[in-house]
This record gives sequence, C-alpha cells and structure tokens, in this order.
Amino acid sequence: MDLTNRVALVTGGGRGIGQAIVMRLAAAGAGVIINDIDQASAESVAAQVQATGRPSLAVVADVSDAASVAKMMETALAALGRIDILVNNAGITRDRIILRMTDEDWDKVLDINLKSAFLCTRAVLPGMLKQRWGRVISLSSVVGICGNPGQVNYASSKAGIIGLTRAIAREVASRGITANALAPGFIDTEMTQKIGESVREEVKKRIPLGYLGSPQDVAEAVAFFASPEACYITGQVLSVDGGMAGAWW
Ligand code: NAP
Repeated sequence: MDLTNRVALVTGGGRGIGQAIVMRLAAAGAGVIINDIDQASAESVAAQVQATGRPSLAVVADVSDAASVAKMMETALAALGRIDILVNNAGITRDRIILRMTDEDWDKVLDINLKSAFLCTRAVLPGMLKQRWGRVISLSSVVGICGNPGQVNYASSKAGIIGLTRAIAREVASRGITANALAPGFIDTEMTQKIGESVREEVKKRIPLGYLGSPQDVAEAVAFFASPEACYITGQVLSVDGGMAGAWW
C-alpha cells in the first residue's frame, strides 16, 4: 500500500479516528493536509507528520461552510499542489430522542457530517478528473446502516454518506476515481468516551468480537481504499465494526 508522492486531505484530522488516518497515510508515504476546526490539534498532528519526513499542512476550516471549504482548498493547493485522496472524516453527534430534537440539532449534524462531504468532494473533484486518478473515502457508521434510538440526525447523516458515496462512484468511475465508505462500529475515541461506562459495557455485549475498535483499525481500512491495490473497488461500504452490523437485530 505505497502512497509515495500522493497527497491526502483528511477533514477533522486533529484527533480520534482522523488523527489515526493522517498518521497511517503518512506512514504509507503520502503528504497530508490536516483539516480541523481546532487550530492547536491540527497543528500538533501536522508536526507529527512532519517528523516522519512527509510534507504536511494544517488548515483550520469549518467543513460545513462553503466559503471556509473554498478557502481551505485554495490554501491546500497553493501549498502542496494537488489532492489525490480525500477523507471525509469530520463528524459530530447531538443525541436526543426525536420528540426532543431541535431543528438546530438536526441542521448542525447534517451540515457537519453530510453537507461537508458534498462540499469537500465537489471541491477536490476537478483536480482528480484532470489527472484521472483520485480516491474519495467517507466515514459512515454502523448507525447509518442499522439506525439507533436517540440518533435520528446522526443516523440520517451517516445513511446519507452511503448514498453520496454510491452516486459519486457512478459519476466519476470512468475517470479513474473511486469513492468508498467505511462504516465503523463503536471505536474508542472522545466521541464514544462521552457516552458513559455503563452504556459502553452494554454496547460491548452487542459486538461479536467483544471489544471496542481502535482508531487504528479504521485507519488501516482507509489506507487500503486509498491504495493502488484497491483500484477496482468503488461504491462500497466496508464495515469495521467487530461484526456488529451483522449481529444488530
Ligand atoms: P472525534 O474524536 O469527535 O473527532 C472529530 C474531529 O472532527 C475533531 O477533531 C473535531 O474537532 C473535528 N470537527 C468537528 N466539527 C468540525 C468541522 N465543522 N470542521 C472541521 N472539523 C470538525 O470523532 P471520531 O470518533 O474520531 O469520529 C471520526 C468520524 O468517524 C466521524 O465522522 C464519526 O461520525 C465517525 N464514526 C465514529 C465512530 C466512533 O465510534 N467513534 C463510529 C462510527 C463512525 P474538535 O476537536 O474541535 O471538535
């Protein structure tokens, strides 16, 4: 899985799964642009990449905002000249049962989790189309496949990622660009640490492998989709969930 001379952009790359993806792609030889809404974490991860000898750049931007995305792409292309691999990773949760969910809870989650993927993909595609090579890899979730109480906003955004991925895959397949999605189960990051120990123990019972995944587990699958070896795979959703989606019901 050699990515030498490739350049990747990872959204929400400042911590958690995004950070692991950044470091894994750099280990495979790619230069990496680290986007995050938080400057300190983006810069810290960029410095870690730099220490491996790969080019890197931290770009602070809110990926749910079209103007921010346009500015981010301008900065990224000016610095590194190209984007070969886009990883749509930034995401949030705002959990509440539907009867208590506000319009703002819905809009915020759909904007950051789904609209961001539309905006970033639309922005990187012209360069990929020109060079006739590209990889668009987006983070869905087991919840986008199976649903989850308290998460109608999050589940809808993650199901939307699957539709977006499959539509993009068909639109650009003839130009050497693939689009795939990952559906992680419960991965041990700040996002899942906030759910509380008792709920985490309950969740473990629903995972056939019996433990939460690590950000590294997801990063390995991203590296595969990004690699030349995955050239004939597009429009797919790969579960990285310890068997959870298959055992959900
Ligand atoms: P995380 O630890 O909360 O990290 C998310 C990152 O995205 C943070 O660095 C965050 O910045 C950044 N971010 C949030 N809003 C942003 C915005 N508007 N623009 C740019 N960056 C933004 O989450 P994670 O667990 O690593 O999850 C990464 C992705 O995997 C998400 O799409 C998530 O839905 C998906 N996923 C996670 C799990 C899981 O179990 N953890 C399971 C399935 C899918 P701040 O630090 O400033 O907030």
